Amino acid sequence: MKNLKNRKWTLASRPVGMVGEHNFSFAEEEVRDIDDGEFLIKNLYLSFDPAQRGWMEDRKSYVPPVGIGEVMRAGSVGQVIASNNPNFNVGDKVQGTFGWQEYAISDGKGILNATIIPEGASLTAPLSVFGITGLTAYFGLLDVGQAKEGDTVLVSGAAGSTGSIAAQIAKLKGCRVIGVAGGVEKCRWLTEEAKIDAAIDYKAANMAEVIPELCPEGIDVIFDNVGGEFLNTALMNINQSARIAICGAISGYNNETPAPGPSNYTSLIIQRARMEGFIVLDYMDRFPAAVGELMQWVQEGKIIYQEDIQEGIEHAPDTLLRLYTGKNKGKQLLKIADPD
Ligand code: NAP
Repeated sequence: MKNLKNRKWTLASRPVGMVGEHNFSFAEEEVRDIDDGEFLIKNLYLSFDPAQRGWMEDRKSYVPPVGIGEVMRAGSVGQVIASNNPNFNVGDKVQGTFGWQEYAISDGKGILNATIIPEGASLTAPLSVFGITGLTAYFGLLDVGQAKEGDTVLVSGAAGSTGSIAAQIAKLKGCRVIGVAGGVEKCRWLTEEAKIDAAIDYKAANMAEVIPELCPEGIDVIFDNVGGEFLNTALMNINQSARIAICGAISGYNNETPAPGPSNYTSLIIQRARMEGFIVLDYMDRFPAAVGELMQWVQEGKIIYQEDIQEGIEHAPDTLLRLYTGKNKGKQLLKIADPD
């Protein structure tokens, strides 16, 4: 592509401890011509996900690690600006795994295959409430957590992109819902706007005292995004046959050494409880039906969501860091360009 320059972030080194800009390289290159079956995408929005820290490590996982020198992997939404693929036309808005770069060349295949976003639909919601985080909340809470009317549900990372949707789905299913989040403002948003029953500011509260106070009848479902001390304390308060959906463990993602396991795991024996990890990609064949339900709940006002949109490809590493410092208010996105 003559005269078209791509600015991109590649992985320079594997992180030890807190990930940062030092783990990436920023470079500019000329965009090559597309081959048969390929199309060229101008990235519009990048998705930021706590799991990206894990993709940078060279270890066995549910996806291969990002290689040193490769463009940093990320979900995104873009616009097709040239195409040699009959399924993707110039002008189409597409969602896929196009990475931390301004322009990407794709054949449509990826960890999530490229899909066309219907004309007129939101360009950001497919990366947030109708995307991976909304779907993770849906399957983690309903399939893994088996939340049902009357349950007491405790959600960590509750003001975040995944946690806030899990908490609201639990509420609309008739559960009593307690969210755990960092800071007064996030807790206010949870109770006053997302309308869950109670919120705990884990940065200020004595969790060992407050959890039993707010869950006097015990906990039936834990939807856990953070792991660590939170999980250990929460396990002390579970009911018989409780379900603990292990969605994530962000409190330990940047640790230099593995975090200790929850010493209170013997509660699982005493309470005949089930703790189960899951990966949302395993539910891919059910995504369309789940998105349909999520859309209906959003239209009915039963679910609200927040998007935190930073700007500029040069800010990709800083934007990733916002997730691990709790600066993000809802789904963390980075705007790269406007559509044509
Ligand atoms: P998010 O919740 O929107 O953002 C991350 C939040 O984590 C931050 O806002 C911060 O909130 C909290 N956090 C950061 N460091 C923390 C710490 N040390 N202790 C406690 N909380 C901390 O991000 P998300 O994309 O929705 O992801 C949430 C979780 O879901 C992550 O663990 C992620 O790995 C997991 N996930 C799992 C799957 C799956 O398939 N299993 C799929 C998607 C996401 P506070 O301000 O409240 O601290």
